[in-house]
Order: sequence, then structure tokens, then C-alpha cells
Amino acid sequence: MAEIVPMKAPRRIYPSWLPPNPRERTALAGLRRRQNLVIVWLMGLLPAGWIATMVTHSDALFVPITVVWIVVGLMLAQRVAIIACPRCGKEFCAGQELPYWNALFNRRCDNCGLTLDPGRPADA
Ligand SMILES: [Zn+2]
Repeated sequence: MAEIVPMKAPRRIYPSWLPPNPRERTALAGLRRRQNLVIVWLMGLLPAGWIATMVTHSDALFVPITVVWIVVGLMLAQRVAIIACPRCGKEFCAGQELPYWNALFNRRCDNCGLTLDPGRPADA
């Protein structure tokens, strides 16, 4: 008796050197902008803590500000992590280790190799 093997959808493979089309370029620019926004937000923690300390003449607000700042930063990073690749439709940042960290610094799709910097070769 023959065993029925379910058909898997064929995996679409795109060459990573294929330059992005205008729609993909727009999506990649948006992804890069959101990555930079989260990085700037996280780097703003120290100045915000200093300003709060100078304004209130107390360091009582430093811990609550730090906690809120990091929680908001993680929420923003999570939103970057779930952005779909404009070419293959899967998560652009599919790395399993430190997924939020990967989402902020990943420059190429983990599935199809589409790079955020089309001017540079994907393997650079
Ligand atoms: Zn992709």
C-alpha cells in the first residue's frame, strides 16, 4: 500500500545578489529607519536619566525611568523583530539567539539574504 506523502509548498529561493525592486527598497528603508529609532531610543536612556536627576535634584526617579525606558525599548525592538521581509514574506530577523538584539543589528534577511544595504554585496 502506497504511503501518502503531503505535498510541501515549493520553497522560493531568490538569489541574494538580486537587487531589490522599488517596493522592496521602500520597505527596507522603513525597516532600517525603525531599527535606528530603537537604537537611538535605547541610547537616550543615559541623557534622560541625567536630565531627570538634574531637574528633580534627586536620583529617586532614575530606577523607574530606567525600567520604563527598557520596557518601551524592548516593545519597540519586538515590533522590529516581527517585520516581514519584503521579498520572501518571512520574518526578516528570524535569528533565534537574542532575537531583539538581532532585530536591531541584522542587515540582511535570515531567510533569503536580501540586504538592507543594496549598494554593498550581501556577504560583506
Ligand atoms: Zn527574505
